[in-house]
Amino acid sequence: MAIVGRLILARRVAVGRLTVAEGVIAAIDLDHEAGPDDVLPYIAPGFVDLHVHGFGGFDAMDGADALSGMARALLRRGVTSFLPTAVSAPLDGLVAFATTVRDWMADAPADGAEPLGFNLEGPFLAPARRGAHDPAHLLAPADVPRAALDPLLDGLRLMTVAPELDGARELISWLTGRGVVVSLGHSEASVEAAVAGYGAGATSTTHLFNAMRGIDHRSPGLAAAALTEERVCVELIADDMHVHPALWPLVSRLKSPDRLVLVSDAMALAGTGDGPGRLGSVAVEVRDGRATVAGTTTLAGSVTALDDAVDRLVAAGVTIPDAVAAATRAPLALLGVADRGHLAVGQRADLVELAPNLTVQRVMRAGRWIP
Ligand SMILES: [Zn+2]
Repeated sequence: MAIVGRLILARRVAVGRLTVAEGVIAAIDLDHEAGPDDVLPYIAPGFVDLHVHGFGGFDAMDGADALSGMARALLRRGVTSFLPTAVSAPLDGLVAFATTVRDWMADAPADGAEPLGFNLEGPFLAPARRGAHDPAHLLAPADVPRAALDPLLDGLRLMTVAPELDGARELISWLTGRGVVVSLGHSEASVEAAVAGYGAGATSTTHLFNAMRGIDHRSPGLAAAALTEERVCVELIADDMHVHPALWPLVSRLKSPDRLVLVSDAMALAGTGDGPGRLGSVAVEVRDGRATVAGTTTLAGSVTALDDAVDRLVAAGVTIPDAVAAATRAPLALLGVADRGHLAVGQRADLVELAPNLTVQRVMRAGRWIP
């Protein structure tokens, strides 16, 4: 099968043809004669959402059928791989979530985004920066024996920890020693405590600027540490509401395209319009595309998806290859997944065809166009 378009390569866009065979990219032929083109579709690697609580009316914590519904709804927005993400819940509820995701992964639908494991955003979060997380479920790492966390490990790829909590640094090294990527977030940490959390092994930052101290020149915190520690990634919810667009160029200048990770942080109502809903045990509502804890102005995740996020970054002046990298290569590199995310021979043929205005036209998963 041959696909012709403007191929979004690592550092440039080039007109060419991809040949797909047996689920992988078998050949790439660039058209060196082609001039600038504004008609052909763009061909990008499939998007990867590491932080997504639900989509299309389905909540990641509602069982196998909801996971399937969410995976299918995400795929239609160009997301070919994802981590179903839990909010803070009692430990036995998180163990049940982990067990459900593991069982479901074995026969997840072929016409949905592929799960790469799961993400736990909590319960080790700072009460002062809990956002939409239920304060009744938050725990300090020092109060939880490691044996109680063992049943969570299989399939756990990413976990948010507030580095200033009692026992957090020990927990971070315990998790990273077991192959779990730790993201610092929901934290009141000083810049020193944040740097110590990265020093203990954390390599990412949960929804930069949200649920942490801002860039305050007298009392900097996690956001300042995340932007100045060169090797760590930052998640960015690129939806106008979570981070003012005026700050996106600041982030993209301080973070190379491989360290900027676009996430949706979407909740179940995403992709369904306005209405009342739920995020874990917390009542939420969506009005005019803004998701909040019901009756408050506290943001409760988003109703965006990565296709919108890429579009908005480009509108803010980020190059198309760099914006796409933040939705593909960067999240995959953070997890250590190497078989997809680039338009290169031998890579899995997870592709998104985007119209010239960057809206999703078609999505291919593992070499098959999904109707
Ligand atoms: Zn959060």
